Amino acid sequence: MEQYDIVIAGAGPAGLTAGIYAGREGLKAIILEKALKGGMGNVAPLVLNFPGFKSITGLELLKRIGDHASGYMDIKESEEIQKVEKMDGKIMVTTNKNEYAAKSLIISTGTKYRELGVPGEQEFIGKGISYCSICDGMFFRGKEVLVVGGGNSAAEHALHLNDIGCKVKMVHRRDELRAQKYLQDKIKKEGIPIVWNSVVKEIKGDTFLKSVVIYDRVRDVEEELDIAGMFIAVGEIPSSQLAGPIGVEIDRGGYIITDKDQKTNVPHVYAAGDVTGGLKQIIVACAEGAVAAESAYNDIKMEE
Ligand code: NAP
Repeated sequence: MEQYDIVIAGAGPAGLTAGIYAGREGLKAIILEKALKGGMGNVAPLVLNFPGFKSITGLELLKRIGDHASGYMDIKESEEIQKVEKMDGKIMVTTNKNEYAAKSLIISTGTKYRELGVPGEQEFIGKGISYCSICDGMFFRGKEVLVVGGGNSAAEHALHLNDIGCKVKMVHRRDELRAQKYLQDKIKKEGIPIVWNSVVKEIKGDTFLKSVVIYDRVRDVEEELDIAGMFIAVGEIPSSQLAGPIGVEIDRGGYIITDKDQKTNVPHVYAAGDVTGGLKQIIVACAEGAVAAESAYNDIKMEE
């Protein structure tokens, strides 16, 4: 079994930065990522608030952070953690490929997309429905698309799809967006129409998505819109399932609870990034990853 000082679960901005800091402290660390390194940051069309970069795509920023981290340790992609246990003062991590024993664990597993949970959604995922405009937007150039949601992600999807030549409309359940003001201003400037106070009730099609039924909650009327694509951005759910089996506390929303040193209630287990909730920004995830790695380092040194 491979022995490490730190196993880092998840290779988003938090995990990758934790890797850089752990590596620089001379710790033997490894990052395990169930998919590809970069996490949700990869799909941000444009990042305009990461210090040092006036404007950079999420993909490019995370590639740079990933390359930086790779200089310090192995990053195992497509390696999913299946089990975490505490045993004889060690943390045992079992993946679909290997087993690891570590002195400490940093959980930086991020979040996943929340689904709408309406009829037709599962059926048309990948056949007109997407959660990622950067990945799939180009398939809908020149076609009618609907973006569902009122947060930063929905606003960014709408703007990106508009930029690449889709005919975009947004639908939001309230009468104002939650997205930051600069995004709202851009949406207004671009003239992207918004269907207010409305929710998606049903998604219809045959082989591909063809239309969507929306319900106006104020006027109490239903309308069927013909669309070729639908981008859903109605928030995120924390990927905190590693927490429970080792007794790490989560809050009512499922986010891992940490102190200011990114320590959880379980000794030698830390959490960083979106999985801890709070301000979901790449810069915050990076900072939490750095703090988590330094805390793990200090705790290991104290016990030596
Ligand atoms: P979010 O901020 O939680 O917004 C989710 C949106 O979906 C809200 O407008 C919400 O409506 C709506 N919604 C939730 N459940 C719904 C349902 N069942 N049916 C219809 N609408 C529903 O999520 P997000 O936009 O994915 O962003 C996630 C986090 O990442 C946020 O903290 C965000 O600030 C951050 N983020 C930041 C940036 C950036 O800084 N540029 C970019 C992307 C994401 P209500 O408004 O009525 O609640």
